Amino acid sequence: MCALPTAAVVTVGTELTSGLRRDTNGSEIARALAEAGYHVASLSALPDDLLALESALRTLTSLHALVIVTGGLGPTHDDITREAASRALGRPLASDNGVVERLAALAGRHSEPGARAQMARQADVLEGAALLAAVAGTAPGQIVPTPAGALVLLPGPPNEMRPLLSRALEGRIPSTPPVRLRCIGITESDAQHRVQPAIAARDVDLTLLATPDDVEVVLFARDGRAEDLGPAAEAAKLALGTSCYSDDGASLAETVVDLARRSNARIACAESCTGGLVAAALTDVPGSSDVFEGGVVAYANAMKSGLLDVPEQLIARYGAVSDRTAIAMAEGALQVGDATLTVSTTGIAGPAGGSEAKPVGLVWFGIARHDGRTHAVERRFGGDRDMVRRRATATALDLLRRSLLEG
Ligand code: ATP
Ligand code: MG
Repeated sequence: MCALPTAAVVTVGTELTSGLRRDTNGSEIARALAEAGYHVASLSALPDDLLALESALRTLTSLHALVIVTGGLGPTHDDITREAASRALGRPLASDNGVVERLAALAGRHSEPGARAQMARQADVLEGAALLAAVAGTAPGQIVPTPAGALVLLPGPPNEMRPLLSRALEGRIPSTPPVRLRCIGITESDAQHRVQPAIAARDVDLTLLATPDDVEVVLFARDGRAEDLGPAAEAAKLALGTSCYSDDGASLAETVVDLARRSNARIACAESCTGGLVAAALTDVPGSSDVFEGGVVAYANAMKSGLLDVPEQLIARYGAVSDRTAIAMAEGALQVGDATLTVSTTGIAGPAGGSEAKPVGLVWFGIARHDGRTHAVERRFGGDRDMVRRRATATALDLLRRSLLEG
């Protein structure tokens, strides 16, 4: 049993349950709750159905310290969240004058008199609720006391939901947030088998989250007790070794930029099968211009030769997807600007173009350094084209990271 306070998340909208829109709010809210120290016991989507939502809220609010609902706070007939919450908690709705005034200022954007009148629904507030004033959009959020804690109503559009969620969670952090160790180049099971014995004597719980390109080791203070979390995190990091690249939420690209800055390195890349994704990941990081020279996307062989000086005979002899070409591409990128460290990618992303000797998923990477130490790395990735390119991008960043760690 888990002694953390429990929370439930409900996303409301027939567009979600019918598959017309993808629910992104649910996972975003669940993650924020987990970070705030709640155990998310339920995450569900319901259509715009007054009775179904009323009944779900009656149950969830009696069980969980915090229940968060998103969607259905708008002005239209299908926006039933306020009404359902009011019925579930037996708290009547009353129009809030402050909200009515704010809405009146916005009524001019509707031309139908009926639409203007309908906006007033958004001013209906549950008895005893605290309001979360809308930052974007028009519908305010509401925090309503429940027998077990609180019910929070948030608007559906993600850009309206997000700022109100942060405000709703302010001051509600009931326990120590978990430690998240992000890892690459290790399987989920290997990470588990290394970390479990290292933290066995500690009062912490372990969860592993895998994505196609990394593994996250999450350590929770058991029963909200914080004192074991720090030492457990240190022990876990030691057990994970260089596969752990961040313990503060930093992404792989952020870690590379940070390491490069600290070692005065300048990075460039030469990309074939990743088509600029490595450069995009690095330039996503604010301030990356301190360390990133640039990248060349050389897809056709003529571009590899023309822009990166890869000898045509070398490509003809060994193939574009080979260790020799990967190294020559990385060395070519080293010549263009002031880079001290470069990475290249050349591979077969599929679905076509594979052969027995060079199957889809085969990618060669080259690493070149201004001190002359160069090497090539071969990887065979599973998955479709998108997956192969994603994994290749993460691997290229990881090779840069490992090279920077070596000094
Ligand atoms: P509005 O005033 O815009 O009607 P609302 O609170 O009533 O606000 P909804 O009508 O439920 O919100 O949703 C409006 C739009 O917000 C949806 O069409 C969808 O694009 C987006 N949205 C709603 N819920 C989610 C969700 N769970 N995940 C991602 N997007 C969502
Ligand atoms: Mg709506």
